[in-house]
Amino acid sequence: MDQKFIPLSVPNLKGKELEYVTQAIESEWVSTAGSYINEFEEKTAAYVKAKGAVSVQNGTSGLHIALKVCGVTEENEVIVPAFTFIAAVNPVKYIGAEPIFIDCDDSLCMDADKLLHFCQEECEFEGRELINKKTKKHIKAIIVVHIFGNTANMEKIMNVANEFNLKVIEDATEAIGTYYTEGFYKGKYAGTIGTIGVYSFNGNKIMTTGGGGMIVSDDMELIKRAKHLTTQAKSDELYYRHDEVGYNYRMTNIQAALGLAQLEQLETFIKTKRENYLYYREQLNTIKGLTLLEFNENIRSNYWFYSLYINEDYLLNRDEIISFLASKNVQVRPVWDLINEQKPYLKNQTYKIEIASHYLHHIVNIPCSSNLTKEDAQYVIECLKSPKKV
Ligand SMILES: *Cc1c(COP(=O)(O)O)cnc(C)c1O
Repeated sequence: MDQKFIPLSVPNLKGKELEYVTQAIESEWVSTAGSYINEFEEKTAAYVKAKGAVSVQNGTSGLHIALKVCGVTEENEVIVPAFTFIAAVNPVKYIGAEPIFIDCDDSLCMDADKLLHFCQEECEFEGRELINKKTKKHIKAIIVVHIFGNTANMEKIMNVANEFNLKVIEDATEAIGTYYTEGFYKGKYAGTIGTIGVYSFNGNKIMTTGGGGMIVSDDMELIKRAKHLTTQAKSDELYYRHDEVGYNYRMTNIQAALGLAQLEQLETFIKTKRENYLYYREQLNTIKGLTLLEFNENIRSNYWFYSLYINEDYLLNRDEIISFLASKNVQVRPVWDLINEQKPYLKNQTYKIEIASHYLHHIVNIPCSSNLTKEDAQYVIECLKSPKKV
């Protein structure tokens, strides 16, 4: 019998999606106004315990607006991780600002110690502005990414940000539902600790609206400004007067209807993902040369993506595992190439990038959808127990 294809990460739409989307269509409110949008914003804010939320077309547009409302301009630089999806960094260039790349640590998120050392060694702090010694430019913000549903070390990062007067944009596009269970930020959700946070509801994320995203913050001034900028910066509804250049970035009512149904199931998705993660880990860690990477101990992760670390004791290397599993109808993926090594960013500054490329070459992400069954996981494990070069 042919093995059915096991994808890496696909949507799970078995809740009230069809019901809510049908209602949206029957009401004929299908565009960028309608009650589902407001309700989805309110419920997302309540879920992550943020004061306010503004919906957007996708995570990328959310990050663009987050940079704008943090006051980043083409005069500025922004500190970013080298090891992440390129959409975390492209919005810096949309603004005309320049990124500076920092290494990751063993959490795969930005190394908070290297961040601090960069600020101390490579910059000067004058008149409450962090100035890059090399370019003489004002570094205004940090974009922190919570990779695969793990958390960056927010306690240390916020200390650096406070010391050097930097805004913190949390790219929590992969981490909705992750929160601290211990420490200084106990009870705080990923995305709600920095100045502003962004979630993504792309099709491969833990919950999806097809395409979509959400900006959250406790600073209602920023939320108000984000709403203004995402809705064409209209200052007079009737006469269409605009006080600045705005964007058409608001989510549609249909997307929000999907989102509400997904949000209702988010905790169930996390529960399933956690169970599958623990099952995989127990089995895979018994195979010589393979380890499933851990999530931080002081959090309840959303367990979005599982990272399988491959060392030299295993028969296959990263690329060989990908081809081998493809031949078995199992989709796995390498992590992203480092952003600082990609064409648009070759000229940008980097700081001591040492371990990101090691992880890059030793990790694959394995199937992790919230509708992955125990049998699917078992099949993947069995394949990995009897590797072959193909
Ligand atoms: C998915 C993702 C984004 C972009 O979100 P979209 O909704 O696809 O635009 C940005 N950063 C990271 C780290 C992501 O994983």
